[in-house]
Amino acid sequence: MYKVLFTSDYEIHGSGMGSPRELVVEPTTRMLDQFDRHGARLTIMADIGEILKFKEYAEQTGNDRFFFHDIRRQLERAVTTGHDVQLHVHSSYFNATWDEAGGYWKQDFREYDLASLGYDRLKEMIGLGKRFLEDTLRPRKPDYECYAFRAANWSMHPSPNIVRALVESGIRIDTSVWKYGRYDDLVRFDYTGAHSDLVPWPVAEADVCRRDPDGKIFEFPIYTEEKPIWTFLTANRVYRVIAQRLNPLPTPEGMVDPMSGGGGAPKDRSGPFGKAKRVVSKLVRRHPWKMDFNQCTGRQLIDGLLRVERRYGHPDQPLPFVLIGHSKTFTRHNERSLRPFLEYVQDRPDRFSFGTFGDFEPERYRTDVGRAA
Ligand SMILES: [Zn+2]
Repeated sequence: MYKVLFTSDYEIHGSGMGSPRELVVEPTTRMLDQFDRHGARLTIMADIGEILKFKEYAEQTGNDRFFFHDIRRQLERAVTTGHDVQLHVHSSYFNATWDEAGGYWKQDFREYDLASLGYDRLKEMIGLGKRFLEDTLRPRKPDYECYAFRAANWSMHPSPNIVRALVESGIRIDTSVWKYGRYDDLVRFDYTGAHSDLVPWPVAEADVCRRDPDGKIFEFPIYTEEKPIWTFLTANRVYRVIAQRLNPLPTPEGMVDPMSGGGGAPKDRSGPFGKAKRVVSKLVRRHPWKMDFNQCTGRQLIDGLLRVERRYGHPDQPLPFVLIGHSKTFTRHNERSLRPFLEYVQDRPDRFSFGTFGDFEPERYRTDVGRAA
């Protein structure tokens, strides 16, 4: 049995720009409505850095300009209707200030790379986030618990501080790693050697990619495949790239786009031939593609799920097929293209179902299960 686990990072643009109503609340309402029609379940990964700032702004000014109350109501709706809310932390927002002239949240770039922060600071941020979610949601769902986590920009390297801070804060599942992923920019990580692209593992404190049978938290990786660029080129991806170009990240050194892709290649200064060569090599080279339900078509998601089924078969315990998405890229077009995937899973309950992290017993992955064929 494969449990399809939709996770959606719930946040505005990385630049600190954009309306939370348009980028977060409205698309997530459509997402929840669509999922409800198919019995699918959404796990909202709520960026607590932003939400706490929106709350603070409303409290200090009496003006709920960032729709904090709509956000709170939406999170409540999710946990009381079979969906879930878990923790996402963009650390650069904890010291952020609202820049009225520029119309954006001015983030603290010294705290941008989450995993590079000190243990005490990490524990403070994770603790604040977990407490906020539990205090907010328990009045509506008494057994609600925050126990799963995704790092800002998937930043889990270096691992010792963050893994220890998660463990000490009572987090039991991390879902930041995507095999083959690599960044060497404002955040730095290399997940090439991750234990699995699919099967959860108990995490070694020294390196989240490594399996330690005594590990205290479990990694549920975002399912990722390594393929040439054209395999996953879709209208949704082009839309996302355009959206990012229009909303670059302001930094002291100028505007950069840290999410533009893989290994942070050096600037090309080799003229038109060099450029053409670089384009060709980019097309042929294999890239890691996260299973992103806002960027892949429904058909691509179906094919990905079937490849997984062929490779891993049907072991005794259910395997998670973790998909990532972002409310800010959930367009109407995307809503239409996702539908065939929802129907496909819904119509094959003997092999596939929808789930949240609460449907898994992580301890069952302490012994290595589900080897790929
Ligand atoms: Zn995020």
